[in-house]
Amino acid sequence: MAVVNVTELLVQSALKDAYIGKGRLTCDCARCVEDIKAIALNHLPPHYVSTDQGVAYVKAQYIDPQLQSDVLRELAFAAQTVSSSPRHIEGS
Ligand SMILES: [Zn+2]
Repeated sequence: MAVVNVTELLVQSALKDAYIGKGRLTCDCARCVEDIKAIALNHLPPHYVSTDQGVAYVKAQYIDPQLQSDVLRELAFAAQTVSSSPRHIEGS
């Protein structure tokens, strides 16, 4: 049994499907990708479910078109924010 934040799953998979390795990011190093994910998640409501099924099952069951479009909007905003001032340059 686990508690899963569906919003986080959607952010993670949208990042992977639409951004990472797609040439849409100024930089897709781990630091920038995590920053994008954090910014997006801070702007989105968490949506927790408890499950004893796999994560893939949860994702399939809870994909809400509204949440999905909110996720894409916030990811676009976060990608822009990180691209305009990537923090990896400071080397922390
Ligand atoms: Zn980077």
